[in-house]
Amino acid sequence: MNKKKSAPVTEGNEANRAKAPSAENGGTTYALFSSLDRTGQGEVLVADLAFALERLGLGNDDPRLFSFFAEIDALGRGARIDFNTFQQLIKTSPILVQKALQKQLIIPEFEQFRDDIKKIFASIAKNTSGKVADYIPQLAKVDPNQFGISVCTVDGQRFSFGDSDQLFSIQSTSKPTSYLIALALHGSEKVHRHVGREPSGHSFNAITLDGHNRPHNPMINAGAILCSSLINPENDAADRFDYVLNTWQRLFGGKRPDFNNSIYLSEKNTADRNFALAYFMREKKVFPPESDLHQALDLYFQCCSISATCENMAVSAATLANAGICPLTNDRVFEDGHVKDTLSLMYSCGMYDFSGEFAFLVGLPAKSGVSGVVQLVIPNVMGIAIWSPKLDIMGNSVRGVEFCIELVKRYNFHTYDTLIAGHSSKSDPRLRVNQIKQEGAVQICWAAANGDLSEIQRLIAAGVDVKEADYDGRTALHLAASEGHDEIVKYLLGHGADLESRDRWGGTPLDDAKRHSRSSVIELIEGRTKKKSISMEKRSDAASCYGSEVLN
Ligand code: GLN
Repeated sequence: MNKKKSAPVTEGNEANRAKAPSAENGGTTYALFSSLDRTGQGEVLVADLAFALERLGLGNDDPRLFSFFAEIDALGRGARIDFNTFQQLIKTSPILVQKALQKQLIIPEFEQFRDDIKKIFASIAKNTSGKVADYIPQLAKVDPNQFGISVCTVDGQRFSFGDSDQLFSIQSTSKPTSYLIALALHGSEKVHRHVGREPSGHSFNAITLDGHNRPHNPMINAGAILCSSLINPENDAADRFDYVLNTWQRLFGGKRPDFNNSIYLSEKNTADRNFALAYFMREKKVFPPESDLHQALDLYFQCCSISATCENMAVSAATLANAGICPLTNDRVFEDGHVKDTLSLMYSCGMYDFSGEFAFLVGLPAKSGVSGVVQLVIPNVMGIAIWSPKLDIMGNSVRGVEFCIELVKRYNFHTYDTLIAGHSSKSDPRLRVNQIKQEGAVQICWAAANGDLSEIQRLIAAGVDVKEADYDGRTALHLAASEGHDEIVKYLLGHGADLESRDRWGGTPLDDAKRHSRSSVIELIEGRTKKKSISMEKRSDAASCYGSEVLN
């Protein structure tokens, strides 16, 4: 962008006042510009534009918006820009910025959602129960009271609370990624020749195999050690680890992960169980012939010792929610089919011996690690990372599990909540639902305008609310009244349509009927209004007969 062109516009300068362009020369962009033009002077305060994005969870740490925010900083937030400058500015990331300003992101009311999560976060912070894992000595040295939460949607909208920028070792949350890498390198058929897909029914480090002498699944230690053995066994150890680290970097939207060497050493020095498990697996010929037990184990310890923050882990969870494409970079890290397989296993096996309960209560794929991290994936919506080191007896973060349970109490994110949509008291912050509602509104209005009674009956039976209005605030009743379809007016009134609803211009259905001289509709509506007021009168008579308690 040419900075010279983007000189701030001086307030009240007539010459700079933007003229409304036509659709061809940026009508939509102009509408967005106008929506931010507070004074109607044809100028927008840079701070208002920046804030419009920031409140949607899109900030200057978003790689897609680096140049956008760099331009904003160059202009200064106090500057005022005209339409041309606005156009130039949003050109640095046009689709994302337009989508955001048009409220087309997956969570359009993002601030409200964030405030809700903040409340859940604050109430869960009071829970101080649980015990930090100490079987890896270095893990026991963390401050047990830390607590962080980060959210990243499939559109890359983000927010965080608490200790979300503190590093922790990712431990077992490395397992889904090691499995995904193995799938990418070898395909599902080969991988599952060596590892099953069944919950083990035993603890994560139990020395047990399934009936085919395979680890039960990739989410427990045996399965993860096996997956490590499948990651480029022909390469040397450094290249193998770099390969894994590079994959995590892509999952983190470009942020290079850290590595905690003390955790690695501590883990390696106290890993009798994992060594025993690996020897047992070698005895049972579980490993592919080309693999080396010690190298596989070492890579496994290294993967568990990768360090990240809640912010990073939320982005990687969001990449899974987004079918393998990182929302911050649009980089396809994994194939969608492999992500589907991984989420299926996280759903059934991701939370240790609490996996069945978790699937029942929360109904979402998740993975937990002994450092106290839980990654929660809401497919097609968002990824969430919760970190708090104190664990319950199953080995899951106490606060992590509690957060997930509270979240689905408030929002209809449980996989099977959709079965009771419309009857559920839970909220849905997703645009998709608004869109479906909007589509329903458009369909019922169209049917009303065209006199298609059977289509209206079908839509109402399918759950479309007769009171829904189109973009102009016009309901089916407005349209049926305008067109003089009395049968439809009658039907809609019998199904809860609102006579008082007003469109964008303040008109009621009766106003429409009058304007188009639809005498039978006028009669019908006025008849209803009269009946209604008579029965209101009767009710208030009755109320006065029986005294004021009736009204209270
Ligand atoms: N590194 C840990 C172990 O192998 C990982 C376990 C976990 O997070 N559940 O024991």
